Amino acid sequence: MSRKKQKFNVVIVGSGFSGIVAANILLDAGLDVLLIDENMHTGGQLLRKIPEKLGEYPGYRPDPVKKTGFGFVDSLRKKKIEILNRAIVIGIYPDNKILVEVDEKEVISVAYDVILFATGAREKFIPFKGWTLPGVYSTGLVQVLMKSSGVLPAERMVIGGSGLFLFAAAYEFLKNGGKVDAVLEQTPMFEKMKLLSQFFHQFSKFTEGAKYLLRIVLSGTAVRHRRKIVEARGEKALEEVVTARVNRAGRVIPGSEKIYKTGALAVGYGFTPNVELPQLAGCELEYAPGKGGWVVEVNRELETGIENIFAAGEITGVGGALKSITEGRMAAFAILKRLGKISGEEYSAKSKSLLRQRRRHLKFGEYFNLLYSIPGEMFLDIPGETVVCRCEDVTMDDIRKAVKHGYASPGSLKVAVRTGMGNCQGRICGPNVFEIISALTGEPQRQVGRFSVRPPIKPVSIGSLAEYRDNGKSG
Ligand SMILES: Cc1cc2nc3c(=O)[nH]c(=O)nc-3n(C[C@H](O)[C@H](O)[C@H](O)COP(=O)(O)OP(=O)(O)OC[C@H]3O[C@@H](n4cnc5c(N)ncnc54)[C@H](O)[C@@H]3O)c2cc1C
Repeated sequence: MSRKKQKFNVVIVGSGFSGIVAANILLDAGLDVLLIDENMHTGGQLLRKIPEKLGEYPGYRPDPVKKTGFGFVDSLRKKKIEILNRAIVIGIYPDNKILVEVDEKEVISVAYDVILFATGAREKFIPFKGWTLPGVYSTGLVQVLMKSSGVLPAERMVIGGSGLFLFAAAYEFLKNGGKVDAVLEQTPMFEKMKLLSQFFHQFSKFTEGAKYLLRIVLSGTAVRHRRKIVEARGEKALEEVVTARVNRAGRVIPGSEKIYKTGALAVGYGFTPNVELPQLAGCELEYAPGKGGWVVEVNRELETGIENIFAAGEITGVGGALKSITEGRMAAFAILKRLGKISGEEYSAKSKSLLRQRRRHLKFGEYFNLLYSIPGEMFLDIPGETVVCRCEDVTMDDIRKAVKHGYASPGSLKVAVRTGMGNCQGRICGPNVFEIISALTGEPQRQVGRFSVRPPIKPVSIGSLAEYRDNGKSG
C-alpha cells in the first residue's frame, strides 16, 4: 500500500469469501477500497495456496466452490485495489480509524468512511490428557501445513473430535498420500441420519460429503461414531491414543476404551467466529448455539449496532462458504446504498433474493451447528492436571478451585489465574474457559459472557508499536 494514502471509502478486514466478494462489487462501483488480511495469501481459510510439492499438480482441479473463489481473487487482481497481506488489524477507534501492524515491522493507522468486518472463524480445540505432546495437531493446522506449506505432517494419523471438518481433513490427508487409520467422530450415528432431511436443500454439499466418505472408506480407514479422544500417551512424543465411547452427553462410558498406536493425531471440534475486533469496536454480540456460539449481531442489511460498521461471513453465523458469498454481496450492496452509490429501490431489488438465500444458508448452518454442538457436561471430564490455557500454564484444577472461590466470570478468572492473558489473548482457551465456567456453575453461556478485549487484540512487536506515529504525533 502506498504509505501516503491513509483514508479509504471502505476498509475490509478479512479476504475470505465474504471479503473478496464484497471488494469486487465495491470496486466495480468506483469506490476506493482497502482489503486487509493477516495471511500471506488472499482468499481466507478456503483458498490457501496449493503447493506444487503435494499431490495436486499438475492438473489440479479445485471443486466448484473453490473454483468460484479463485475466480473472485483473479477478478480482484485485475482491478485497482489496495491489498495489504501479512497485516493484522490490532485496534479500532471511534474516530473511524484502525491500527494495523504490517509485515511485523510497523504499525500504521488507516481511516475509513465504512468498515466491513469479514474476519471469519477459527477452529475449536477441547483439551484432553496429553494434548500438548508433540504429534498432536489441530485438524486446521494439518490442513494449513498441507495446503500452504506443502508439508504432510506424518505418514499416517488418527483423526478425532466432532463435525464434518474431520472428514474434509481426512480426505485431503489421503489425497496427499497419507494414511488415516481412523476417523473418530463423537456424534451418534442415528443423530446424523437426520441430515438426510436436508438432502434436497443442499444437494452439492451432500455430493461433496459423499465423495469424501467414499474415498475415506475405500482407503480402509475405520470410521467410528460416538467415540472420543480421551488421552494422548507417549514418553517424549505421541505413541498411542486412548479413545472411548461416549453417551449422549459426551461423557465417557467406562470400560469402552480402545487404544490406537499412532505417532500423529489431529483433533478438531468445529469452528468459533472471530468476533474480537467487532467486540472491541463496541458492536453487540449474541450467543446463538445455532449460529456456532458468539456471533456479531447484525440487521437485515448486515450493519452492526454501530453506524457504518458492517459484518459478513462466518462472524455473523458459521454457515459455510456459500453463506459467506451471499453475505459478501449483501454487505456490499448495503454499503453502496449507505455511500449514495445506489438508491433504496435499487438496493431492495438487488437484495431481495439474497435475503432469501441468506435465510436458507442460516437454516442449513443451524442444522449442522446444533447437530455437532459439544454437550456442556463434556467439559467436566477434563482431568484436573490437564492444561487448559497453554500460554499461561493454567490447569483444569486451577480453574475449578478459582471458580469454587467465586471467580466465576471470564474477567475475574483471568485476574485470578491469568487464563487468557498470554500470547493468544484467549483465542484458543477462551471458548473452553467460557464452557467450563458454564458447566461448573450451571449458568447459561450467554450469562457467563466472554473475556473483555482491548488493543492490541493480537500479538504485536514492541518495536513496531514504539515506532508508531499518528500524523506526526507519537503513538
Ligand atoms: C481452519 C479452517 C479450515 C477450513 N477449511 C475448510 C475447507 O476445507 N472446506 C470448506 O468448505 N470450508 C472450510 N472452512 C470454512 C470456511 O472458512 C468458510 O466456510 C468460509 O470460506 C469462510 O469465509 P469468510 O469470508 O467468512 O472467512 P475466512 O475465509 O475465514 O476469512 C477470514 C479472513 O480474515 C482474516 N482476519 C481475521 N482477523 C483479522 C485481523 N484482525 N486482521 C487481519 N486479518 C484478519 C483471516 O486471516 C482470514 O483470512 C474452514 C475454516 C477454518 C477456520
